[in-house]
Amino acid sequence: MSYDDNNIFARILRGEIPCKKVFEDEWVLAFHDIRPQAPVHVLVIPKGKYVAMDDFSAKASADEIAGFFRAVGEVARLLGLPAKGYRILANQGRDGGQEVPHFHVHIFGGRPLGRMIAQAG
Ligand code: AMP
Repeated sequence: MSYDDNNIFARILRGEIPCKKVFEDEWVLAFHDIRPQAPVHVLVIPKGKYVAMDDFSAKASADEIAGFFRAVGEVARLLGLPAKGYRILANQGRDGGQEVPHFHVHIFGGRPLGRMIAQAG
């Protein structure tokens, strides 16, 4: 799947659509999810053009990957989550339930998060 320059996160990165920003550095932008599924639900997206985890893990540079995952941890600390705990999640493709085709990690926290994944059915 080739990268769609008009996906909603590309437009947020270009400043065409607003977001509730939590953190930004040279590698990532982090912002609140528009439909939160936990008291804290923040998305961390790389600034590079990667469709999903498969693309990112195969094509991003070591600096981009390190910058991205360091930022995920930094954002969780900024949100005060490590002491009580939190969950990160990245959906990949159809079976993963990915809606937006720009790689992103969800950070969930603020309450006990229950079982790891929904049951099929
Ligand atoms: P995924 O299913 O992993 O692709 O998740 C995409 C997430 O993006 C969903 O949780 C949406 O609620 C969220 N989302 C979609 N549009 C926006 C937006 N404009 N601002 C913030 N979050 C968004």
